Amino acid sequence: MLTASQRTCEVKVDGAWHPTTLTQARGLYTMAQKRCPACHGQVVIAGTYIGKGSLNLQHRRAHAGCPLRPETYTGTPSPHPQALA
Ligand SMILES: [Zn+2]
Repeated sequence: MLTASQRTCEVKVDGAWHPTTLTQARGLYTMAQKRCPACHGQVVIAGTYIGKGSLNLQHRRAHAGCPLRPETYTGTPSPHPQALA
C-alpha cells in the first residue's frame, strides 16, 4: 500500500496545476486548491498531520469514473463532472 508521501494530488499554484505528494499538499499548500490527478475533481486531504501515513485523498463529490476510488470505480475512467480546470 502506498504511503502518504508516495501518493499524489495536484495543487494550483500561480494559476497552474502541479503534482505534489499528499504530505506536501497538506504541509506546504494548505490553502491551495487541490484536485485528483486522475479525474481532476476537487479533493480534500483528510487525516491528521501528526499521525504517520494517515493522510487520505477524499473527493468532495464522489465520482464513479475515478480509478483512485476503487470502492465506487465502475471500471471505465471518465472525467469528473465538476472537474477543476
Ligand atoms: Zn478522482
